[in-house]
Amino acid sequence: MSRAAAVQEPDVEQVVVSRSQYADTVHRPDTGTDDPRPACAQAGADKRREWREVSLASQRPHRSLCRNPACFGGEWW
Ligand SMILES: [Zn+2]
Repeated sequence: MSRAAAVQEPDVEQVVVSRSQYADTVHRPDTGTDDPRPACAQAGADKRREWREVSLASQRPHRSLCRNPACFGGEWW
């Protein structure tokens, strides 16, 4: 996989965010499902929460990348 040394730009254009107005984190989309949901454990923890897929560029100014290794591996903007 990717090397840990360098901070890398996210390699996806679409990300998943909770519909909650309090959500401030974007997740990598889970490619194993038709429904938009995060690749990390947040999906299981928030089953009742609805997720939507949005473009990363639209979220970048005001949201953080999920630090879960299944999403963006602990990197911050
Ligand atoms: Zn995540």
